[in-house]
Amino acid sequence: MNDSILNFRFDGLSEREIFDKPYRAGQIFKFIYENCIFDFNDMTNIPLNLRKSLSENFRILSIVESARRTSSDGVIKFLFELDDKNCVESVYLKDKNNRVTFCISSQCGCRMGCAFCKTGDMGLIRNLRADEILSQVLYLYKIMKGDASVVDKYFNIVFMGMGEPLDNLTNVETAISKLIDKKNLGISQTRITVSTCGIADKIEDLLKKFPNITLAVSLNSPEQSEREKMMPVSKKYPLNLLFQELKRLYGVYKNRITLEYVLIKGVNMRRQDVDLLSQIDKDIFHINLIPINVGGDDPRRPSEPEIKSFMDKLTAVGLKVTRRYRRGADINADCGQLFYEKFVEGVV
Ligand code: SF4
Repeated sequence: MNDSILNFRFDGLSEREIFDKPYRAGQIFKFIYENCIFDFNDMTNIPLNLRKSLSENFRILSIVESARRTSSDGVIKFLFELDDKNCVESVYLKDKNNRVTFCISSQCGCRMGCAFCKTGDMGLIRNLRADEILSQVLYLYKIMKGDASVVDKYFNIVFMGMGEPLDNLTNVETAISKLIDKKNLGISQTRITVSTCGIADKIEDLLKKFPNITLAVSLNSPEQSEREKMMPVSKKYPLNLLFQELKRLYGVYKNRITLEYVLIKGVNMRRQDVDLLSQIDKDIFHINLIPINVGGDDPRRPSEPEIKSFMDKLTAVGLKVTRRYRRGADINADCGQLFYEKFVEGVV
């Protein structure tokens, strides 16, 4: 299989002998990153013999769309096939103002085993390479360009698809460095959110390289014993250590942090949870509530009045709280639902 041209930085590509003129790399980057042309044969102002040579030596995207489903509320979920026939899912979302977010996968499966997440049920199949991560972004960018309802040329990227980004840190960082490179997509760091289950000793590596990135940490319970049941990773990175590190990092990088909180009835919505959460530093952390999404009529999903009551209690103790509404529920595209569906059918 040819190497993806997405693995090349502009300088590295422009030095390749394959080019007859020094400006060719610039033309090709423009075709790929500005115009979303993913076939060398469609790069019409490149000489025919060079297009042929590029096609023989490189490819552009390293994923192939295998399936797509659109939900009743306009969310599109893609299943992408990788070289080894494994698949990952990515999601294209628009808010009510038609602002677009791409939810991107960093791994095929995940080994973190969070109890509320279907990806965790798969276990880890493998890390995605940087070009596979970039390919998802570019593919969804092309979808956005063809979406007449989108007026804003900017989009957000959230690493909240399949996988734990900090468990594949090198490749995720390589992908982000290309996403923000002005010669590539040139995305602002503030438009990129990396979500982690709390791998405390790897967060600084990311912030050192990308200090303006948005960081989200999956909290889900302020009580160590309860969190360990939901998130096995908490045994290795206990809450006291995690918060100690997050506060230290805030002191260095001033990067406010979103604490993701999956609401599970009878588990983490008790008065004692409110009391413990009230002790969180309100200048640093903001809480985003996500009613559990793992099954259609999951009895653990709280009712609307229960969600509102919990949210009111948190607000009353001075916490900044938002709530994530269900999106793409009818196509299993909402939070915690991404899953390699062929995996279930025993294709791999
Ligand atoms: S929530 Fe994230 S870290 Fe946990 S199992 Fe799912 S993909 Fe992995």
